[in-house]
Amino acid sequence: MQKCYLGIDIGGMSVKFGLFDENINLIEKWYVETNTNNNGKYILYEIAEEIKAKQKEYEIIAIGAGVPGPVDSKGIVKECVNIGWGETDVKVELESMTGIKTTVLNDANAAALGENSEKYNSMVFVTIGTGVGGGIVFDGKVLTGFGGAAGEIGHITVNPAESEKCTCGKSGCLEQYSSATAIKKYADKLIADGTETMLKENFTVKDIFEGVEKGDALCKMVVRRASVYLGMALSNIACTINPEVFLIGGGVSRAGDTLLNPVKEYFKKFAFPEVKDTPIVIAEIGNDAGMYGAAKAAKRLI
Ligand SMILES: [Zn+2]
Repeated sequence: MQKCYLGIDIGGMSVKFGLFDENINLIEKWYVETNTNNNGKYILYEIAEEIKAKQKEYEIIAIGAGVPGPVDSKGIVKECVNIGWGETDVKVELESMTGIKTTVLNDANAAALGENSEKYNSMVFVTIGTGVGGGIVFDGKVLTGFGGAAGEIGHITVNPAESEKCTCGKSGCLEQYSSATAIKKYADKLIADGTETMLKENFTVKDIFEGVEKGDALCKMVVRRASVYLGMALSNIACTINPEVFLIGGGVSRAGDTLLNPVKEYFKKFAFPEVKDTPIVIAEIGNDAGMYGAAKAAKRLI
């Protein structure tokens, strides 16, 4: 039987599985919908069932699992709001159900590791989707921090004057301005205020970026605001840890240069002189990065 590593990416909508050979080349991938019933009580059981079915064809040596929440140094998941989990020992539960060595990491950290992290001495990965997440890789190692919260870039305070609350409970977080959710919400607000736009009803974040290309003033205003705050947050990270590169991933990164150009402009404006030339580029692997990173973490167990 072929030996392989399993990388799992547990998200709010789906659980992605990837089987990888010993050099982390993808052999096979599939996904199941995330069962969030009863506070996500069945998720790990259903994952174990998928694994058991695959064990008939493959010898799975180790498992890596990326989860959407902070993970402490013992591999205990603190909380995953969007799948309903409170404190959960994913490592112990999966190991006892499958008999396979398992490691657990935060999903954004997994994605950071899954991007071509070996290529750089140090990198900061920022994922912009429903929220804003991040992962920091130094010398090939993910920086998790004392309590597992390193890389929570979305919750850097960028506007102390904000009165609305972020999902984390505080106010003025990067996520409140630069996530897909925030971009859409700000466009909705400007439209409600009577600002003219070419955007039609039921527009998407993709339509907003296309609107920028077409010269729509409202779309430009919305993307500019998201870019100011993202550029500001990245500049503060740059003078704290001076990474070789910033990689931008997640759904919003599909906007490419329409997003990157203004972000770079504001990054340069706010950055400490010695770090202002840090490259900011779009991540390469994209959607499967979490799976790749989880598999790389699994390989390190052996
Ligand atoms: Zn927050």
